[in-house]
Amino acid sequence: MLYKAKCSQCGTQFRRRTRTELLSALRKHIWKAHRSWMVHRIKAGQAKAAAGNPGVVGLLKDLGSGDFIPGYKKYKRAQYEALKPALDVLTKHLPEPVKVSWEIVDRMADIIFKK
Ligand SMILES: [Zn+2]
Repeated sequence: MLYKAKCSQCGTQFRRRTRTELLSALRKHIWKAHRSWMVHRIKAGQAKAAAGNPGVVGLLKDLGSGDFIPGYKKYKRAQYEALKPALDVLTKHLPEPVKVSWEIVDRMADIIFKK
């Protein structure tokens, strides 16, 4: 049996005896023939990751500093939802300013976070 794959960028077909060989051939081809596209994709992936994670950290920091309310528009519902399970469990142990901010945010979440 042969494993088959098609390059998503130029449609070149590959046939190899094993999955490993197929993936390796495809990877080699993409790096050789579509290098700039791959670099672009990797950079886009890194930018996306960088935009997502510090967002949650930033939200947590802003909650702590009490700056949250003026700056809430920069946060998305996904960031709130990422924090919620942890903060719900930790509420009792949070420092007072974070606790107060969080209670406000949590109560207003449906209004302030757009989906
Ligand atoms: Zn190709």
